[in-house]
Amino acid sequence: MLSIRRPSRAVFGRPAGPFSPVIPAGPPLMPGTRPGSAASPVSDVPITLLKISKMAKKKEKEKEKTEAGRRGAAPGRTDKKTKAPAGKAGTAAPEIRDRSRKVRIIPLGGLGEIGKNMTLFETDRDMVIIDCGVGFPDEDLLGIDLVIPDFSYLREHGDKLRGVVLTHGHEDHIGGIPYLLKEFNVPVYGTALTIGIIEAKLREHKLPFRPRLTTVRAGDRVQLGEFEAEFIHVNHSIADACAIALSTPAGIIVHSGDFKLDVSPIEGPMMDLVRFGELGRKGVKLLMCESTNSERPGFTPSEKSVGGVLENVFSLYPEKRIVVATFSSNVHRVMQIIGVSVRHGRRVAITGRSMQTVISAAIELGYMKPPADSIIDVADVKKYAPGQVTLITTGSQGEPMSGLYRMAFSDHAQVSLGASDVVVFSSSAIPGNEKLIGRIINELTRNGIKVIYDSNFSGIHASGHACSEEIKLLIQLCRPDFYMPVHGEYRHLGANRELALFTGIPADRIVTADIGSVVELGRRSAVITGTVPAGRTLIDGLGVGDVGKAVLRDRKALAEEGMVIIFASVDLGARLVLNPPEVITKGFIYTPESEGLIKEVQEIVSCELGDAVVSRRKADLETVRERVRRAVSKMLVQRTGRNPMVIPFIADL
Ligand SMILES: [Zn+2]
Ligand SMILES: [Zn+2]
Repeated sequence: MLSIRRPSRAVFGRPAGPFSPVIPAGPPLMPGTRPGSAASPVSDVPITLLKISKMAKKKEKEKEKTEAGRRGAAPGRTDKKTKAPAGKAGTAAPEIRDRSRKVRIIPLGGLGEIGKNMTLFETDRDMVIIDCGVGFPDEDLLGIDLVIPDFSYLREHGDKLRGVVLTHGHEDHIGGIPYLLKEFNVPVYGTALTIGIIEAKLREHKLPFRPRLTTVRAGDRVQLGEFEAEFIHVNHSIADACAIALSTPAGIIVHSGDFKLDVSPIEGPMMDLVRFGELGRKGVKLLMCESTNSERPGFTPSEKSVGGVLENVFSLYPEKRIVVATFSSNVHRVMQIIGVSVRHGRRVAITGRSMQTVISAAIELGYMKPPADSIIDVADVKKYAPGQVTLITTGSQGEPMSGLYRMAFSDHAQVSLGASDVVVFSSSAIPGNEKLIGRIINELTRNGIKVIYDSNFSGIHASGHACSEEIKLLIQLCRPDFYMPVHGEYRHLGANRELALFTGIPADRIVTADIGSVVELGRRSAVITGTVPAGRTLIDGLGVGDVGKAVLRDRKALAEEGMVIIFASVDLGARLVLNPPEVITKGFIYTPESEGLIKEVQEIVSCELGDAVVSRRKADLETVRERVRRAVSKMLVQRTGRNPMVIPFIADL
């Protein structure tokens, strides 16, 4: 007969769970500590929304009063901080004083989209945030660098914000932190690598105050007002990733973050299944689980399996220089590439700024210990025979400024690629990047360079996200009362919902929300009760949120139709047109072959200007400009079928 033994803690390597220290929360945000609160752009919020949220605030206050009365407290008590947090050190479940207490869960990003993950959890007194990421712009957002969540709701309710809890260091989870901190000086909690990456990021952003960053370890708990956040170790494509178990007045909420189950991780323990099971036994009210790979059957392969495949590639091409593109944040992958290279007698050079930043942070924090002398400078690559070097580079998503892109299009200062190179994409395409990646693969292939990627060499990449069996496993371990698929486009959320149904969660206990939905979680219910402003704030260079629809429309017009610039001068006082007008076009027509058309433009401009200066009513410059613009636009549409942006510069001398 089989005897069943429960695996000991040590097997799973989790730092002591229930006895781990509770990290005291940083001081709550004092009114007025919010930098820029004086100039907080509340006026950006449409008036109606302001009204609604003011009404909601009033209602909330009334509710607070009645609740305080019910509890026997003096009504109208103003000092919020004297209301002691409900959570007790050492217990995961908070002491519930009022069974009717509800928690509002408000996703501000990551639902119906890939990226910019951010979720607010709010009671009447306190608020915490899990993750604050960036999204990457679609093709219709011309020139936009980044997209962050809309913070409007926070601007109204930010005084309750007790802290931000981070699951891991990927951009779609932490990229928005500098922008958040610029407005709200709140404490931030994350594991060492996550905080390390943020520190590097904040060096570029130069905040006017010292950010309050606290490093935690898996197993630690942080008290944040009425909430207590526990960090639980998971496997993912970046080291030091965690799920969060949030103890709230409504019960325990488990947020998976990004995760996969890796039974043979490169470094560190397997995902802490035991802890999820313990929480499930205790009672999980709500499980919020990521959906990225919910459409895929089975289990995600272990990261270690990629090592074997890389080993094959290196054995196949001993004489060639091997250039590997991968995600810079995938420290374990980079470690494997370095390891395989060293075993094959190769030195490794690293190119691409984010790759260099992350690798030096990882080495500094002790996540990576490459053998001495194994890393060489990119400038020295030429000194080695092709078979003696590996290059690790950014550009696995086809990014136009990345190391690989510049090498592929012969624009890299130190490295040019040729027939003695093999290029390996140890990555998969983030949805939307397929075209960019295709462009690089085509260019390399055209130049006779062998390219290896996931569809022609299986196993060259392993995802960092849970496939359907892993998602079902997490559901079964947590056995939640309610379930909410998060992180993914609607198709992913839908597939995740079906997995939950399959495990036996009733349909009416699965919440399918959208960004901006207010999900109210009580002891016995989880329902969407309203919405708050949510969407995207566009970042272009140094500007945050200053690029609106009008600017994007102009960029689209410029990109698709080009522009025509007209320089002319008049003397309105003397009623004279000075000098013939000059016409310059950009992205519209090939000027040397369109002399006739340009001449016509000049004639129309002269004609309009002539009319304007001799007309009886004295024309102002603005009106003249507008007349010229319209006349030229109309003629160009008629003659060419195109509608370029026409910009007249008319000076009154
Ligand atoms: Zn991630
Ligand atoms: Zn993610």
